[in-house]
Amino acid sequence: MIETRATDDMEPVEDFRARARAFLEATMPPLGDGWNDRSDERRDRERELQALLWQGGFAGICFPKEYGGLGLSQEHQRAFTAESTPYDMPFSLNVPTLGILAATLVEFGTHDQKLRYLPGILRGEELWVQFLSEPSGGSDLAGCLTRADRDGDVFMLNGSKIWSSAAYASDYAMCLARTNWDVPKHRGLTMFIMKIHQPGVTVEQIRQVDGTLEFCQEFFDDVQIPASDVVGEIDDGWTVASRLLVHERLAVGGGSPYTSGASFGHDGSGTDTTILDAAQEAGTTRDPHVRQLLAEAHVRQMVGGQLVKRVTEGMASGALPPPAGSVIKLFGATNVMRRSEIGLEIAGAGVVAWPADSPGVAGDLGRASLSRQGVSLGGGSNEIQRNIIRERLLGRPREAAADRDIPYRDVRRGGSAS
Ligand SMILES: Cc1cc2nc3c(=O)[nH]c(=O)nc-3n(C[C@H](O)[C@H](O)[C@H](O)COP(=O)(O)OP(=O)(O)OC[C@H]3O[C@@H](n4cnc5c(N)ncnc54)[C@H](O)[C@@H]3O)c2cc1C
Repeated sequence: MIETRATDDMEPVEDFRARARAFLEATMPPLGDGWNDRSDERRDRERELQALLWQGGFAGICFPKEYGGLGLSQEHQRAFTAESTPYDMPFSLNVPTLGILAATLVEFGTHDQKLRYLPGILRGEELWVQFLSEPSGGSDLAGCLTRADRDGDVFMLNGSKIWSSAAYASDYAMCLARTNWDVPKHRGLTMFIMKIHQPGVTVEQIRQVDGTLEFCQEFFDDVQIPASDVVGEIDDGWTVASRLLVHERLAVGGGSPYTSGASFGHDGSGTDTTILDAAQEAGTTRDPHVRQLLAEAHVRQMVGGQLVKRVTEGMASGALPPPAGSVIKLFGATNVMRRSEIGLEIAGAGVVAWPADSPGVAGDLGRASLSRQGVSLGGGSNEIQRNIIRERLLGRPREAAADRDIPYRDVRRGGSAS
């Protein structure tokens, strides 16, 4: 369990903060252009940045000591994050590798799995991705059709996953597959650790509207996974997947204790500084309407920060149940959309056309805005978050589901049962 506040046996937070400040100043490069670039070069750079954190003794602040982390509290993590804001950090390693997959491994992995995988992750040597969504639909995650059939000490996987972020450049995945077709859909699933680059796995990149090739689809053709790489219990993968999604909502919403560095990511909303730069570039900082928009963007960011703090502390103390992570996720997604609109309005015509060699702040905001809706889908869509809040936080009746208590084999899919 991660402590919310420092305990007596831990280094005092202010001592830790002072050490972190000195380390960051001496070691980490300042935050500059390209931090939100999604190129392979940037990904390699982030592996190097994570290695610097590891060498300096600042990787995995809230991860257990036994597996390479520092075993400190969320208070220590928050102090480090605040100090790290001016520096370039391995932002994309936070989500999904550290904040989602490593966090899930900490909770459900065996001792051997944690010893084997966590130190490599904390050193920046192994990137992880989630193999959850399928071509038949991502919201109904429990409707998974990828199958895993046991053959002695090995499971054979067949099927396909899609929308996996940067799978082609990653090393391992957590993959949800169906191991039992004779029970209702939530009860026959198992979570596996899958080595991505191995015989039987074909990874295809998908070109997105902004020209990037980050998303992938994978095809599994008799992929062999040792039974020792099952995460959690066989046929109880839903329990693991549900916790994974809680970690995802926290990480995407900026409230994960397992991530390090400022929580702005590839969301198209820009930082406060970017939006202010856009106003300066357009020469409109004295325009009353622009000033109102700048204030709105800033207030939204502050409210988001307070919401994250309140919800994560509530979850850590038990005052709020795990589904509360959906509140942060939903606010984060709607906030990104609004802040992106603000950025576009302030930046003006430069967001739709820019000189090829110098996009400027406006061009960067325009390009990033093309993928801004991703945050309303990745980690579960806004509608799904609203369903969770309604059913599991507010206690309203559950959505009707005709397939809830039927063996999955008998569920009609696409007009027929399997
Ligand atoms: C940036 C990004 C990163 C992603 N990364 C990954 C990844 O690494 N690994 C991975 O496995 N997946 C990933 N995904 C996929 C993501 O999890 C899915 O897009 C998401 O779960 C929605 O699934 P879908 O796209 O198939 O839409 P569908 O499930 O087909 O939904 C379509 C629409 O119907 C609505 N809808 C569906 N069911 C309901 C319901 N019960 N009530 C109300 N409305 C409903 C949805 O809100 C949505 O608007 C990523 C997506 C994005 C955008």
